[in-house]
Amino acid sequence: MRYSSETDRAWKAAARCRGLDPNLFYPERGDGGGDEAKEVCRECPVQVACLEHALRFREKLGVWGGCNEADRRRIIRTRAQGLRRKRDQETAGSVGT
Ligand code: SF4
Repeated sequence: MRYSSETDRAWKAAARCRGLDPNLFYPERGDGGGDEAKEVCRECPVQVACLEHALRFREKLGVWGGCNEADRRRIIRTRAQGLRRKRDQETAGSVGT
């Protein structure tokens, strides 16, 4: 997805959390929590766009796209491992050609 301020405005306009107490999405700092916010996100029509935004901009705090900080770190780590594995396979496949 290509991001622009217009794209940002579009998904944010449809956010299910609009008008809700922001404190719900920024629970006590730490690795866990945000279960109430995650419940809201679960039914949000722009959950994927929201999560991708948070991952792209490395949002450090809060619940975005149904994921808290620890969830996002796990996703980033998993994606990085997948990219490394793919690169290694490609490198191994090109050896000897
Ligand atoms: S996924 Fe959650 S945090 Fe993101 S816009 Fe929707 S309700 Fe708000």
